[in-house]
Amino acid sequence: MRLTPLDRCPLCSGPRLRLFRKGTVNPQALGSDDFKITDSRYGSRWTFSACRDCSFVFANPMPDAEAIAGFYAGLEDDEYSREEEGRGRNFALILERLARHAPPGALLLDVGAASGIFLNLARHSGYRVAGIEPSAALVADAERLYGLKLFHGTAGQFVSRERFQIVTLLDVLEHVTDPHAFLGGLDRFLAPGAVLAVVTPDVDSLAARLVGGRWWHYRTAHVTFFNRRTLDRLLRAHGYEVVERARFAWNFSLHYLWTRLLPLRGGKSLQEWLKRIHLKLHLFDSWEVYARKSQG
Ligand SMILES: [Zn+2]
Repeated sequence: MRLTPLDRCPLCSGPRLRLFRKGTVNPQALGSDDFKITDSRYGSRWTFSACRDCSFVFANPMPDAEAIAGFYAGLEDDEYSREEEGRGRNFALILERLARHAPPGALLLDVGAASGIFLNLARHSGYRVAGIEPSAALVADAERLYGLKLFHGTAGQFVSRERFQIVTLLDVLEHVTDPHAFLGGLDRFLAPGAVLAVVTPDVDSLAARLVGGRWWHYRTAHVTFFNRRTLDRLLRAHGYEVVERARFAWNFSLHYLWTRLLPLRGGKSLQEWLKRIHLKLHLFDSWEVYARKSQG
């Protein structure tokens, strides 16, 4: 994989960078499995720089976006679809807040739609929905599980005559190697005054600081990290005004958490039982932000 050393911050172009965290990833030994949403090998990370001017955190050298896209194309993630109940609860909360800014009936585009759990709920809430997903296997899951026809590819490849009143980026920004190019690229399919919903890990959160290098958001698929300031900065640069901001707490089954904290021992019945118990993790180590595009 090609890696590009960066001597300027990809967010503010500032030249004053410092080492933020040393990496553990071996770029020559990567496969699609390393990019799974449900990857449990926490602490797997690129070497990160932090910008002394704006505090943005980014992989440096930066892995090649096209190579990453290739890994997503071959990605299969059965476990993700099986976590439907827990993820569904998270997404229901997002839909409640979203309705305050763009009521049902609006045309919604989910970028990085995975197996369509969120889009299926959004459709049941009355939104008209479309989705983009680079993994062929997840696109097939979305059709099989929910009859959803997602666009197979990246946001950069997406073409649509529709203009969307809502674009959702749920755990997507941290996967993107060039956030300015990515956000700017969304402009071509936004309706005037569109609402952007963003969920992304907060690298300044207490959990991130306490857990350090083993923070669960350190994973091969994550190449940038935002905090409140850098997320605001990115959104403002693209003409968005933040209209609501929440600390996000993910819901997971006990089984999901357990297998991520310790290797799970015990029989199948124990595992099935754990899968039925859902916990709301009040870690609040992600931001959930709603921002409206200026009409100017
Ligand atoms: Zn910067």
